[in-house]
Amino acid sequence: MQWTRSETLALAKNNCTQCHGSGLRLGRMGSLSPCNCVLRAIFRVCYDRFIRCATQEPYLSRISVEPHVGKQRAATWGRKDEEYIADFCLVSRRTLDDFEHRLFRYHFLLGADWRLCSRKLGIDRGTFFHAVYRIEQKLGRTFRELEPYPLFPLDDYFHGASRMVTGPQPVARKTGPSALPSRLRFPEVRRAA
Ligand SMILES: [Zn+2]
Repeated sequence: MQWTRSETLALAKNNCTQCHGSGLRLGRMGSLSPCNCVLRAIFRVCYDRFIRCATQEPYLSRISVEPHVGKQRAATWGRKDEEYIADFCLVSRRTLDDFEHRLFRYHFLLGADWRLCSRKLGIDRGTFFHAVYRIEQKLGRTFRELEPYPLFPLDDYFHGASRMVTGPQPVARKTGPSALPSRLRFPEVRRAA
């Protein structure tokens, strides 16, 4: 995906020494890439929503209508809060390596502070915070670049319409006798011959 200034500007830190508040950095090949402050901001927005969904009373979770783009179906029903919790955890598991995911689980999912994580993982304070920054940046980028349904922007995730399939459509399957191979379709003809 193409990162643009209009997207990163609102997320960037004003006093960031890397991007100076623009949210974009010029790469070695002359291409623009999002600054780490933007990626961490995306992660934190998604993480805050995850905490809200995971800690709210179950009766507050509602079934909602998800509009579809296209002619086949107008809409389906879904439990968006539960889907978001599952997506957040599964995408994180897929994106992080084993060490990062253990730290992610202890610190972000179970709420352990740096002392407890350091003891459990056998790392020092500096390594802990470096790893936390790395995890936030990795997940922030993945949550935004995920195809076909990114977790960020949250508004699109929770209220956006599902997209139309643009690739080749699956061929409709034949059912009934005409779908059988000819040798099975007319056994009596074969027997008579
Ligand atoms: Zn920055």
